[in-house]
Amino acid sequence: MLKLYDTLTREKRPFVPLEPGKVRMYVCGPTVYAEPHIGNFRVFVMGDVVRRWLEYRGYDVFYVMNITDIDDKTIRDSGREGVTLKEFTERYTRIFLQGLDRMNIKRATLYPKATEHIDDMIKFIEGLLKKGLAYVASDGVYYDIDKFPGYGKLSRIDLSKVRKTERMLADEYDKESPQDFALWKRSTPEELRRGIYYDSPWGPGRPGWHIECSVMSQKYLGETLDIHMGGEDLIFPHHENEIAQSEGLTGKPFVRYWLHVAFLKIRGEKMSKSLGNIIRISEALRDYSPDALRYFYLSAHYRRQIDYTDEVMEGAEAAVRRLGNTLSIVEDALRQPEEKLSYDDEEQRFLEEIKTLKHRFEASMDDDLDTHGAIDALHAMSKTLNTYAEGRPNKGVLLRGYEVYRRLLSTLGLLERREETGELLERALNLIVEVRERLRAERRYELSDWIREELRSIGVILEDTPKGTRWRIEA
Ligand code: AMP
Ligand code: ZN
Repeated sequence: MLKLYDTLTREKRPFVPLEPGKVRMYVCGPTVYAEPHIGNFRVFVMGDVVRRWLEYRGYDVFYVMNITDIDDKTIRDSGREGVTLKEFTERYTRIFLQGLDRMNIKRATLYPKATEHIDDMIKFIEGLLKKGLAYVASDGVYYDIDKFPGYGKLSRIDLSKVRKTERMLADEYDKESPQDFALWKRSTPEELRRGIYYDSPWGPGRPGWHIECSVMSQKYLGETLDIHMGGEDLIFPHHENEIAQSEGLTGKPFVRYWLHVAFLKIRGEKMSKSLGNIIRISEALRDYSPDALRYFYLSAHYRRQIDYTDEVMEGAEAAVRRLGNTLSIVEDALRQPEEKLSYDDEEQRFLEEIKTLKHRFEASMDDDLDTHGAIDALHAMSKTLNTYAEGRPNKGVLLRGYEVYRRLLSTLGLLERREETGELLERALNLIVEVRERLRAERRYELSDWIREELRSIGVILEDTPKGTRWRIEA
Protein backbone atom coordinates (compact mmCIF):
# COMPACT_ATOMS: atom_id res chain seq x y z
CA MET A 1 0.00 0.00 0.00
CA LEU A 2 1.17 3.48 -0.86
CA LYS A 3 2.56 5.48 2.05
CA LEU A 4 3.35 9.17 1.90
CA TYR A 5 5.37 11.34 4.22
CA ASP A 6 3.23 14.22 5.38
CA THR A 7 5.13 17.37 6.37
CA LEU A 8 2.37 18.41 8.76
CA THR A 9 2.49 15.30 10.95
CA ARG A 10 6.16 14.53 10.13
CA GLU A 11 5.34 10.89 9.53
CA LYS A 12 4.78 8.39 6.76
CA ARG A 13 1.16 7.39 6.60
CA PRO A 14 -0.86 5.04 4.38
CA PHE A 15 -2.38 7.07 1.58
CA VAL A 16 -6.15 7.19 1.88
CA PRO A 17 -7.87 9.79 -0.29
CA LEU A 18 -11.01 11.57 0.80
CA GLU A 19 -13.06 9.80 -1.82
CA PRO A 20 -12.18 6.23 -2.80
CA GLY A 21 -10.52 5.95 -6.18
CA LYS A 22 -10.13 9.71 -6.65
CA VAL A 23 -7.24 12.01 -5.89
CA ARG A 24 -7.46 15.78 -5.67
CA MET A 25 -3.99 17.13 -6.10
CA TYR A 26 -2.59 20.66 -6.13
CA VAL A 27 0.97 21.72 -6.84
CA CYS A 28 2.09 25.32 -6.46
CA GLY A 29 3.03 26.38 -9.93
CA PRO A 30 5.41 28.92 -11.39
CA THR A 31 5.54 32.63 -10.96
CA VAL A 32 5.77 33.58 -14.60
CA TYR A 33 8.46 36.25 -14.46
CA ALA A 34 11.39 34.31 -15.96
CA GLU A 35 12.18 31.07 -17.67
CA PRO A 36 12.04 28.38 -14.97
CA HIS A 37 15.35 26.99 -13.77
CA ILE A 38 16.17 23.35 -13.20
CA GLY A 39 15.37 23.71 -9.47
CA ASN A 40 11.80 24.71 -10.28
CA PHE A 41 11.57 21.76 -12.64
CA ARG A 42 12.52 19.34 -9.93
CA VAL A 43 9.14 20.12 -8.37
CA PHE A 44 7.26 19.97 -11.68
CA VAL A 45 8.81 16.61 -12.60
CA MET A 46 8.13 15.20 -9.14
CA GLY A 47 4.51 16.36 -9.37
CA ASP A 48 4.31 14.52 -12.68
CA VAL A 49 5.76 11.35 -11.16
CA VAL A 50 3.36 11.46 -8.20
CA ARG A 51 0.48 11.77 -10.63
CA ARG A 52 1.79 8.95 -12.82
CA TRP A 53 2.26 6.68 -9.83
CA LEU A 54 -1.24 7.36 -8.52
CA GLU A 55 -2.63 6.58 -11.99
CA TYR A 56 -0.59 3.37 -12.10
CA ARG A 57 -2.23 2.48 -8.79
CA GLY A 58 -5.63 2.97 -10.40
CA TYR A 59 -6.61 6.39 -9.10
CA ASP A 60 -8.44 8.98 -11.10
CA VAL A 61 -6.29 12.07 -10.54
CA PHE A 62 -7.61 15.61 -10.79
CA TYR A 63 -4.48 17.72 -10.89
CA VAL A 64 -4.39 21.50 -10.56
CA MET A 65 -1.33 23.72 -10.89
CA ASN A 66 -1.73 27.47 -10.55
CA ILE A 67 0.03 30.11 -12.59
CA THR A 68 1.04 33.14 -10.57
CA ASP A 69 0.68 35.94 -13.09
CA ILE A 70 0.47 38.83 -10.65
CA ASP A 71 2.76 39.38 -7.67
CA ASP A 72 5.62 41.60 -6.55
CA LYS A 73 8.12 40.08 -8.99
CA THR A 74 5.99 40.03 -12.15
CA ILE A 75 4.98 43.65 -11.57
CA ARG A 76 8.53 44.77 -10.87
CA ASP A 77 10.14 43.03 -13.86
CA SER A 78 7.47 43.89 -16.43
CA GLY A 79 7.85 47.52 -15.31
CA ARG A 80 11.60 47.38 -15.76
CA GLU A 81 11.12 46.04 -19.26
CA GLY A 82 8.43 48.60 -20.06
CA VAL A 83 5.82 46.07 -21.21
CA THR A 84 2.34 45.38 -19.89
CA LEU A 85 1.97 42.81 -17.14
CA LYS A 86 -0.19 40.68 -19.42
CA GLU A 87 2.25 40.65 -22.30
CA PHE A 88 5.07 39.84 -19.89
CA THR A 89 3.37 37.00 -18.05
CA GLU A 90 1.92 35.47 -21.22
CA ARG A 91 5.41 35.21 -22.65
CA TYR A 92 6.70 33.34 -19.61
CA THR A 93 3.62 31.17 -19.38
CA ARG A 94 4.33 29.98 -22.93
CA ILE A 95 7.95 29.31 -22.04
CA PHE A 96 6.85 27.36 -18.97
CA LEU A 97 4.47 25.20 -21.01
CA GLN A 98 7.16 24.53 -23.63
CA GLY A 99 9.43 23.39 -20.81
CA LEU A 100 6.78 20.94 -19.62
CA ASP A 101 6.58 19.46 -23.10
CA ARG A 102 10.31 19.20 -23.49
CA MET A 103 10.55 17.42 -20.15
CA ASN A 104 7.76 14.99 -21.08
CA ILE A 105 5.58 16.23 -18.22
CA LYS A 106 1.96 15.25 -18.67
CA ARG A 107 -0.38 18.20 -18.57
CA ALA A 108 -2.23 18.87 -15.33
CA THR A 109 -6.00 18.88 -15.54
CA LEU A 110 -5.90 22.65 -15.42
CA TYR A 111 -3.59 25.61 -14.92
CA PRO A 112 -5.71 28.40 -13.45
CA LYS A 113 -4.29 31.92 -13.56
CA ALA A 114 -4.45 34.23 -10.57
CA THR A 115 -5.64 37.22 -12.61
CA GLU A 116 -8.66 35.25 -13.80
CA HIS A 117 -9.87 34.60 -10.23
CA ILE A 118 -9.84 38.04 -8.66
CA ASP A 119 -13.58 38.05 -7.87
CA ASP A 120 -13.28 34.70 -6.10
CA MET A 121 -10.39 36.08 -4.07
CA ILE A 122 -12.34 39.16 -3.06
CA LYS A 123 -15.21 36.95 -1.85
CA PHE A 124 -12.80 34.75 0.08
CA ILE A 125 -11.23 37.77 1.79
CA GLU A 126 -14.70 39.10 2.64
CA GLY A 127 -15.39 35.75 4.29
CA LEU A 128 -12.20 36.03 6.37
CA LEU A 129 -13.13 39.58 7.43
CA LYS A 130 -16.59 38.44 8.42
CA LYS A 131 -15.06 35.72 10.58
CA GLY A 132 -12.84 38.25 12.32
CA LEU A 133 -9.66 36.64 10.99
CA ALA A 134 -8.61 39.63 8.92
CA TYR A 135 -8.60 43.38 9.27
CA VAL A 136 -8.35 46.40 7.02
CA ALA A 137 -5.28 48.62 7.31
CA SER A 138 -4.24 51.72 5.43
CA ASP A 139 -2.30 49.80 2.77
CA GLY A 140 -4.51 46.76 2.41
CA VAL A 141 -6.23 43.86 4.12
CA TYR A 142 -4.22 41.65 6.47
CA TYR A 143 -4.65 38.25 8.00
CA ASP A 144 -4.45 38.37 11.79
CA ILE A 145 -2.34 35.33 12.62
CA ASP A 146 -3.13 35.61 16.35
CA LYS A 147 -6.72 34.75 15.58
CA PHE A 148 -5.93 31.40 14.02
CA PRO A 149 -4.96 28.93 16.75
CA GLY A 150 -3.21 26.55 14.37
CA TYR A 151 -0.83 29.14 12.97
CA GLY A 152 2.67 27.70 12.73
CA LYS A 153 1.67 24.04 12.85
CA LEU A 154 3.11 23.15 9.45
CA SER A 155 6.48 24.87 9.79
CA ARG A 156 6.61 24.60 13.61
CA ILE A 157 7.85 28.14 13.86
CA ASP A 158 8.46 29.92 17.10
CA LEU A 159 5.44 32.13 17.58
CA SER A 160 7.01 34.01 20.44
CA LYS A 161 8.92 35.88 17.76
CA VAL A 162 5.78 37.41 16.29
CA ARG A 163 6.24 41.10 15.90
CA LYS A 164 2.84 42.54 16.67
CA THR A 165 3.56 46.03 15.57
CA GLU A 166 4.75 45.15 12.10
CA ARG A 167 2.85 43.74 9.21
CA MET A 168 4.21 41.98 6.20
CA LEU A 169 3.27 43.42 2.85
CA ALA A 170 5.83 41.46 0.80
CA ASP A 171 4.83 38.09 -0.64
CA GLU A 172 7.99 36.36 0.53
CA TYR A 173 9.64 36.67 3.92
CA ASP A 174 11.68 34.47 6.19
CA LYS A 175 10.87 32.14 9.01
CA GLU A 176 12.30 34.43 11.62
CA SER A 177 9.52 36.91 11.18
CA PRO A 178 6.07 35.38 11.47
CA GLN A 179 3.78 38.34 10.97
CA ASP A 180 0.35 39.31 9.79
CA PHE A 181 0.43 38.96 6.02
CA ALA A 182 -1.32 40.82 3.24
CA LEU A 183 -4.42 39.32 1.61
CA TRP A 184 -5.12 42.40 -0.45
CA LYS A 185 -2.64 45.12 -1.28
CA ARG A 186 -3.81 48.57 -2.05
CA SER A 187 -2.30 49.84 -5.32
CA THR A 188 0.85 51.89 -5.28
CA PRO A 189 0.95 55.06 -7.41
CA GLU A 190 3.05 53.16 -9.95
CA GLU A 191 0.54 50.32 -10.17
CA LEU A 192 -2.27 52.83 -10.63
CA ARG A 193 -0.37 54.58 -13.37
CA ARG A 194 0.29 51.27 -15.14
CA GLY A 195 -3.32 50.17 -14.75
CA ILE A 196 -2.38 47.14 -12.64
CA TYR A 197 -5.28 47.15 -10.21
CA TYR A 198 -8.69 45.69 -9.54
CA ASP A 199 -11.58 47.40 -7.81
CA SER A 200 -12.50 45.99 -4.44
CA PRO A 201 -14.43 47.00 -1.32
CA TRP A 202 -11.04 48.14 0.06
CA GLY A 203 -10.13 50.34 -2.85
CA PRO A 204 -8.18 49.57 -6.01
CA GLY A 205 -5.55 46.95 -5.43
CA ARG A 206 -4.46 43.40 -6.06
CA PRO A 207 -4.36 40.13 -4.16
CA GLY A 208 -1.40 38.87 -2.17
CA TRP A 209 0.32 35.72 -3.37
CA HIS A 210 -0.87 33.31 -0.66
CA ILE A 211 -4.58 33.90 -1.15
CA GLU A 212 -4.53 32.73 -4.77
CA CYS A 213 -3.69 29.13 -3.88
CA SER A 214 -6.35 28.91 -1.16
CA VAL A 215 -8.94 30.28 -3.55
CA MET A 216 -8.11 28.34 -6.69
CA SER A 217 -7.56 25.03 -4.92
CA GLN A 218 -10.91 25.33 -3.20
CA LYS A 219 -12.67 26.36 -6.39
CA TYR A 220 -11.51 23.36 -8.41
CA LEU A 221 -10.81 20.71 -5.80
CA GLY A 222 -13.09 21.50 -2.88
CA GLU A 223 -12.38 22.40 0.74
CA THR A 224 -10.13 19.44 1.47
CA LEU A 225 -7.34 18.38 -0.89
CA ASP A 226 -5.73 14.97 -0.82
CA ILE A 227 -2.25 16.10 -1.84
CA HIS A 228 -0.64 19.51 -1.84
CA MET A 229 2.92 19.81 -3.12
CA GLY A 230 5.62 22.39 -3.58
CA GLY A 231 9.28 23.00 -2.97
CA GLU A 232 10.53 22.96 0.63
CA ASP A 233 10.95 26.74 0.57
CA LEU A 234 7.17 27.06 0.41
CA ILE A 235 6.54 25.50 3.83
CA PHE A 236 6.94 28.93 5.39
CA PRO A 237 5.34 31.34 4.89
CA HIS A 238 3.37 30.29 1.81
CA HIS A 239 1.83 27.01 2.90
CA GLU A 240 1.50 28.07 6.52
CA ASN A 241 -0.52 31.03 5.27
CA GLU A 242 -2.59 28.89 2.93
CA ILE A 243 -3.60 26.72 5.91
CA ALA A 244 -4.54 29.78 7.98
CA GLN A 245 -6.67 31.13 5.14
CA SER A 246 -8.38 27.91 4.09
CA GLU A 247 -8.94 26.30 7.47
CA GLY A 248 -9.78 29.68 8.96
CA LEU A 249 -12.59 30.08 6.47
CA THR A 250 -13.98 26.55 6.22
CA GLY A 251 -13.15 25.07 9.61
CA LYS A 252 -12.21 21.87 7.78
CA PRO A 253 -8.82 20.26 7.29
CA PHE A 254 -7.27 21.85 4.19
CA VAL A 255 -4.83 19.13 3.11
CA ARG A 256 -4.53 15.44 3.92
CA TYR A 257 -0.92 15.00 2.76
CA TRP A 258 1.64 17.79 2.41
CA LEU A 259 4.54 16.79 0.16
CA HIS A 260 7.61 18.98 -0.05
CA VAL A 261 10.39 18.54 -2.54
CA ALA A 262 13.91 19.30 -1.31
CA PHE A 263 16.13 21.85 -3.00
CA LEU A 264 18.26 21.38 -5.99
CA LYS A 265 21.62 22.88 -5.19
CA ILE A 266 24.59 23.96 -7.16
CA ARG A 267 28.04 24.18 -5.57
CA GLY A 268 26.38 23.71 -2.20
CA GLU A 269 23.93 26.60 -2.54
CA LYS A 270 20.22 26.57 -3.24
CA MET A 271 19.62 27.37 -6.88
CA SER A 272 17.65 30.58 -7.01
CA LYS A 273 17.33 33.62 -9.16
CA SER A 274 18.19 35.96 -6.31
CA LEU A 275 21.53 34.19 -5.71
CA GLY A 276 22.32 34.48 -9.42
CA ASN A 277 23.32 30.82 -9.73
CA ILE A 278 20.53 29.48 -11.88
CA ILE A 279 20.68 27.16 -14.85
CA ARG A 280 17.64 27.58 -17.01
CA ILE A 281 15.91 24.53 -18.32
CA SER A 282 16.81 25.35 -21.93
CA GLU A 283 20.47 25.69 -20.93
CA ALA A 284 20.54 22.31 -19.23
CA LEU A 285 18.84 20.71 -22.23
CA ARG A 286 21.50 22.08 -24.54
CA ASP A 287 24.03 19.87 -22.77
CA TYR A 288 21.97 16.90 -21.67
CA SER A 289 18.92 14.99 -22.84
CA PRO A 290 15.55 15.48 -21.13
CA ASP A 291 15.73 11.83 -20.05
CA ALA A 292 19.09 12.40 -18.37
CA LEU A 293 17.76 15.42 -16.48
CA ARG A 294 14.69 13.49 -15.38
CA TYR A 295 16.88 10.56 -14.37
CA PHE A 296 19.05 12.91 -12.33
CA TYR A 297 16.01 14.28 -10.46
CA LEU A 298 14.67 10.81 -9.77
CA SER A 299 17.96 9.20 -8.83
CA ALA A 300 17.58 10.62 -5.31
CA HIS A 301 14.57 10.54 -3.04
CA TYR A 302 12.54 13.73 -3.41
CA ARG A 303 13.06 14.72 0.23
CA ARG A 304 16.83 14.74 -0.19
CA GLN A 305 18.65 17.70 -1.57
CA ILE A 306 20.57 17.10 -4.77
CA ASP A 307 23.60 18.79 -6.24
CA TYR A 308 23.79 19.53 -9.94
CA THR A 309 27.25 18.91 -11.36
CA ASP A 310 28.55 17.94 -14.78
CA GLU A 311 29.93 14.67 -13.42
CA VAL A 312 26.57 13.66 -12.00
CA MET A 313 24.80 14.65 -15.21
CA GLU A 314 27.23 12.70 -17.35
CA GLY A 315 26.61 9.71 -15.10
CA ALA A 316 22.87 10.18 -15.53
CA GLU A 317 23.22 10.38 -19.30
CA ALA A 318 25.20 7.13 -19.36
CA ALA A 319 22.78 5.36 -17.01
CA VAL A 320 19.74 6.37 -19.00
CA ARG A 321 21.48 5.20 -22.16
CA ARG A 322 22.01 1.78 -20.58
CA LEU A 323 18.31 1.58 -19.75
CA GLY A 324 17.48 2.61 -23.33
CA ASN A 325 19.90 0.10 -24.85
CA THR A 326 17.89 -2.67 -23.29
CA LEU A 327 14.88 -1.53 -25.28
CA SER A 328 16.95 -1.70 -28.48
CA ILE A 329 18.43 -5.10 -27.61
CA VAL A 330 15.00 -6.56 -26.91
CA GLU A 331 13.36 -4.97 -29.94
CA ASP A 332 16.13 -6.35 -32.08
CA ALA A 333 15.66 -9.85 -30.64
CA LEU A 334 11.93 -9.62 -31.28
CA ARG A 335 12.62 -8.91 -34.97
CA GLN A 336 14.86 -11.97 -35.43
CA PRO A 337 13.38 -14.78 -37.49
CA GLU A 338 14.55 -17.48 -35.12
CA GLU A 339 11.76 -18.83 -32.97
CA LYS A 340 11.86 -20.67 -29.69
CA LEU A 341 8.35 -21.86 -29.05
CA SER A 342 8.89 -23.97 -25.96
CA TYR A 343 8.67 -22.83 -22.36
CA ASP A 344 11.49 -24.28 -20.26
CA ASP A 345 13.13 -23.62 -16.92
CA GLU A 346 14.92 -20.69 -18.45
CA GLU A 347 11.65 -18.99 -19.39
CA GLN A 348 10.21 -19.67 -16.00
CA ARG A 349 13.25 -18.25 -14.26
CA PHE A 350 13.22 -15.18 -16.48
CA LEU A 351 9.58 -14.40 -15.78
CA GLU A 352 10.05 -15.03 -12.06
CA GLU A 353 12.90 -12.55 -11.99
CA ILE A 354 10.88 -9.97 -13.86
CA LYS A 355 8.04 -10.41 -11.42
CA THR A 356 10.28 -10.10 -8.38
CA LEU A 357 11.88 -6.95 -9.76
CA LYS A 358 8.51 -5.48 -10.64
CA HIS A 359 7.46 -6.00 -7.03
CA ARG A 360 10.68 -4.42 -5.85
CA PHE A 361 9.97 -1.41 -8.04
CA GLU A 362 6.40 -1.13 -6.77
CA ALA A 363 7.42 -1.52 -3.15
CA SER A 364 9.94 1.29 -3.55
CA MET A 365 7.44 3.63 -5.14
CA ASP A 366 4.83 2.78 -2.53
CA ASP A 367 7.36 3.66 0.14
CA ASP A 368 6.92 7.42 -0.09
CA LEU A 369 7.87 7.45 -3.78
CA ASP A 370 11.39 6.13 -3.38
CA THR A 371 12.40 6.69 -6.98
CA HIS A 372 16.00 5.87 -6.09
CA GLY A 373 15.04 2.32 -5.15
CA ALA A 374 12.71 2.06 -8.12
CA ILE A 375 15.52 2.99 -10.52
CA ASP A 376 17.75 0.35 -8.92
CA ALA A 377 15.10 -2.24 -9.69
CA LEU A 378 14.96 -1.00 -13.29
CA HIS A 379 18.69 -1.46 -13.73
CA ALA A 380 18.44 -4.99 -12.42
CA MET A 381 15.52 -5.65 -14.76
CA SER A 382 17.48 -4.22 -17.66
CA LYS A 383 20.26 -6.76 -17.02
CA THR A 384 17.78 -9.62 -16.78
CA LEU A 385 16.22 -8.59 -20.08
CA ASN A 386 19.57 -8.19 -21.84
CA THR A 387 20.73 -11.63 -20.77
CA TYR A 388 17.54 -13.36 -21.82
CA ALA A 389 17.24 -11.45 -25.12
CA GLU A 390 20.85 -12.16 -26.06
CA GLY A 391 20.36 -15.91 -25.62
CA ARG A 392 17.76 -17.78 -27.59
CA PRO A 393 14.53 -16.28 -26.29
CA ASN A 394 10.95 -17.35 -26.63
CA LYS A 395 9.53 -14.19 -28.17
CA GLY A 396 6.22 -14.31 -26.36
CA VAL A 397 8.01 -14.62 -23.03
CA LEU A 398 10.48 -11.87 -23.90
CA LEU A 399 7.62 -9.61 -24.91
CA ARG A 400 6.00 -10.06 -21.51
CA GLY A 401 9.16 -8.92 -19.75
CA TYR A 402 9.58 -6.06 -22.19
CA GLU A 403 6.07 -4.79 -21.58
CA VAL A 404 6.54 -4.76 -17.82
CA TYR A 405 9.81 -2.88 -18.22
CA ARG A 406 8.31 -0.26 -20.51
CA ARG A 407 5.33 0.27 -18.29
CA LEU A 408 7.53 0.86 -15.24
CA LEU A 409 9.80 3.22 -17.18
CA SER A 410 6.73 5.13 -18.20
CA THR A 411 5.52 5.60 -14.61
CA LEU A 412 8.75 7.56 -14.17
CA GLY A 413 8.24 9.30 -17.51
CA LEU A 414 11.55 7.88 -18.78
CA LEU A 415 12.39 6.83 -22.35
CA GLU A 416 8.86 7.25 -23.60
CA ARG A 417 9.66 9.21 -26.69
CA ARG A 418 11.90 6.87 -28.61
CA GLU A 419 9.21 5.77 -30.98
CA GLU A 420 7.23 8.91 -31.27
CA THR A 421 7.41 11.22 -34.24
CA GLY A 422 10.22 13.07 -32.56
CA GLU A 423 11.04 16.69 -32.74
CA LEU A 424 13.70 16.27 -35.39
CA LEU A 425 11.44 14.37 -37.76
CA GLU A 426 8.78 16.97 -37.25
CA ARG A 427 11.14 19.77 -38.15
CA ALA A 428 12.46 17.87 -41.16
CA LEU A 429 8.93 17.32 -42.47
CA ASN A 430 8.08 20.98 -42.00
CA LEU A 431 11.15 21.81 -44.01
CA ILE A 432 10.17 19.48 -46.86
CA VAL A 433 6.70 21.03 -46.91
CA GLU A 434 8.22 24.46 -47.15
CA VAL A 435 10.54 23.46 -49.98
CA ARG A 436 7.53 22.05 -51.85
CA GLU A 437 5.58 25.28 -51.34
CA ARG A 438 8.46 27.25 -52.79
CA LEU A 439 8.58 24.94 -55.79
CA ARG A 440 4.86 25.46 -56.33
CA ALA A 441 5.25 29.21 -56.06
CA GLU A 442 7.78 28.89 -58.90
CA ARG A 443 5.31 26.67 -60.80
CA ARG A 444 7.69 23.70 -60.71
CA TYR A 445 4.79 21.30 -60.35
CA GLU A 446 6.60 18.24 -61.62
CA LEU A 447 8.99 18.33 -58.70
CA SER A 448 6.38 19.30 -56.12
CA ASP A 449 4.10 16.45 -57.21
CA TRP A 450 7.00 14.06 -57.06
CA ILE A 451 7.65 15.08 -53.43
CA ARG A 452 4.01 14.46 -52.57
CA GLU A 453 4.02 10.99 -54.17
CA GLU A 454 7.29 9.96 -52.59
CA LEU A 455 6.08 11.05 -49.16
CA ARG A 456 2.83 9.17 -49.68
CA SER A 457 4.77 6.01 -50.45
CA ILE A 458 6.39 6.19 -46.99
CA GLY A 459 3.11 6.96 -45.24
CA VAL A 460 3.24 10.74 -44.98
CA ILE A 461 0.17 12.43 -46.41
CA LEU A 462 0.25 16.05 -47.55
CA GLU A 463 -2.98 18.00 -47.58
CA ASP A 464 -3.27 21.36 -49.29
CA THR A 465 -5.59 23.52 -47.19
CA PRO A 466 -6.50 27.21 -47.50
CA LYS A 467 -4.10 27.81 -44.61
CA GLY A 468 -1.24 26.12 -46.40
CA THR A 469 0.00 22.57 -46.67
CA ARG A 470 -0.24 20.23 -43.70
CA TRP A 471 1.35 16.86 -43.22
CA ARG A 472 0.11 13.89 -41.27
CA ILE A 473 1.34 10.39 -40.75
CA GLU A 474 -1.03 7.77 -42.11
CA ALA A 475 -2.56 5.78 -39.29
P1 AMP B 1 8.56 29.94 -8.20
O1 AMP B 1 8.33 30.06 -9.68
O2 AMP B 1 9.76 30.68 -7.72
O3 AMP B 1 7.32 30.28 -7.40
O4 AMP B 1 8.90 28.41 -7.89
C1 AMP B 1 8.20 27.31 -8.43
C2 AMP B 1 8.49 26.07 -7.62
O5 AMP B 1 9.89 25.73 -7.65
C3 AMP B 1 8.13 26.18 -6.15
O6 AMP B 1 7.48 24.98 -5.75
C4 AMP B 1 9.47 26.34 -5.46
O7 AMP B 1 9.43 25.85 -4.15
C5 AMP B 1 10.35 25.48 -6.32
N1 AMP B 1 11.79 25.79 -6.24
C6 AMP B 1 12.39 26.99 -6.37
N2 AMP B 1 13.74 26.87 -6.28
C7 AMP B 1 14.01 25.55 -6.10
C8 AMP B 1 15.23 24.78 -5.95
N3 AMP B 1 16.44 25.32 -5.99
N4 AMP B 1 15.09 23.44 -5.79
C9 AMP B 1 13.88 22.86 -5.78
N5 AMP B 1 12.73 23.54 -5.92
C10 AMP B 1 12.77 24.86 -6.08
ZN1 ZN C 1 0.75 27.97 -3.60
